[in-house]
Amino acid sequence: MDLEEFRTNTIIEPFRIRSVEAIRFTTMDERKELLAEAGYNPFLLKAKDVLIDLLTDSGTGAMSSGQWAGIISSDESYAGSSSFYRLENAVQEITAFKHVIPTHQGRAAENILFTTIAGKGDVVPSNTHFDTTRAHVEHSGAEARDLVIEEGKQPRNTHPFKGNMDLAKLEQTIEEVGTDRIPVIMITVTNNSGGGQPVSMENIRAVSEIAKKHDIPFFIDACRFAENAWFIKTREDGYEDKEPIEIAREMFSYADGCTMSAKKDGMSNIGGFLAMNSDELAEKCRNLEILTEGFPTYGGMAGYDMEAVAIGLFEALNEDYLRYRIRSIAYLGDKLSRAGVPIVKPTGGHAVYLDAKEILSHVPPLEYPAWSFNNALYRLGGVRGVEIGSVMFGKQPGGSEKPASMELVRLAFPRRVYTQSHVDYLAEVIINAYEQREQLGGYKIASGPDVLRHFSARMLPLGH
Ligand SMILES: *Cc1c(COP(=O)(O)O)cnc(C)c1O
Repeated sequence: MDLEEFRTNTIIEPFRIRSVEAIRFTTMDERKELLAEAGYNPFLLKAKDVLIDLLTDSGTGAMSSGQWAGIISSDESYAGSSSFYRLENAVQEITAFKHVIPTHQGRAAENILFTTIAGKGDVVPSNTHFDTTRAHVEHSGAEARDLVIEEGKQPRNTHPFKGNMDLAKLEQTIEEVGTDRIPVIMITVTNNSGGGQPVSMENIRAVSEIAKKHDIPFFIDACRFAENAWFIKTREDGYEDKEPIEIAREMFSYADGCTMSAKKDGMSNIGGFLAMNSDELAEKCRNLEILTEGFPTYGGMAGYDMEAVAIGLFEALNEDYLRYRIRSIAYLGDKLSRAGVPIVKPTGGHAVYLDAKEILSHVPPLEYPAWSFNNALYRLGGVRGVEIGSVMFGKQPGGSEKPASMELVRLAFPRRVYTQSHVDYLAEVIINAYEQREQLGGYKIASGPDVLRHFSARMLPLGH
């Protein structure tokens, strides 16, 4: 095998490490105690007590030497900073949108967009709105409507683009609601709340055609645009020979604008932007931005943050990086599947989702099986994931409880942080917990708020 052949057949981390951060080992007895002190809620653990932290891929990545070099040479001027122009150029080179409005993170871009265009009585359709997107749509008085295809809701269905929008449902919604009550159509790539599943180019094009036909603006929630481009390259006919950047450009060419959290495919620890073609909308958004984020050439970011994002956007599109990124998620998924651990398939872009409803089938949904399995991962191996199930979604507005549609443990991977041996270790911990599943019991909520309770609730294992 020559090196070229080797490169295409094997996948190794496409970087070497020259700055390291120690992680701390604890004993199982210590972890039992730490978990009890944290009210059995991993959100309340201290990060130093976690060995492998897969709580989120947001803002937790490692920056490159190139990004750090950019940070050192940033321009911190209040107005007209060169770092802003570097960010603007980078975003325009990839998206071709005329106006680039920097924000301190993704939700700030959402706040500006929806405050400006949405209001009471409006409906904003999407494949699946991410939590903060939904919250900002609702905060404006509008309704956030999810129209993902049916396959996207079935954990075992192996459709290659489970993040696609249901086009018939979109047409139906437009018909029913009327075009003047739909300020924008959104599509989230990849579909974070739907398992990090990708959206096909064909679907993006079709949504764009429907939007154009009805004269409704079409925006992309672009947080994981590079990961989505990789899935199009590897799963959609006609794209295998295209570079990720060409695919990303085509994706954006169908839209009128985008919102972005640079904490994901911006490869940065903070940052974001709103971009669009409309002069009129951009002027309104900039006026609001001055009120909430800052002057339009920094928008809540330091000059050095803008440098890191400007460089990170291109690093996220690097083929070797994307091949490693998507493969490391699939690698864990394959290992778990071979051991019989039920997971959401196919594995998506940024996380592996364990199907706790099936793993702990003896624990009823309102005794929170995914919560229980996630805590077992911490107790056994110091691993922290997050429950996406009935603790997160079960509380109803009237105060009653209803089981969520799925009980999942999400293991989200920070970018460029963990190596293959970390992933091998993870697989051992998860398989070990799976083998002990019959001894794992449910939980109850001891105390906590009604809204977003998973962040701060104190829990108790049943039988205590
Ligand atoms: C993270 C995320 C957001 C919000 O971005 P923040 O930077 O966390 O404010 C919006 N949409 C999607 C799909 C996300 O993953």
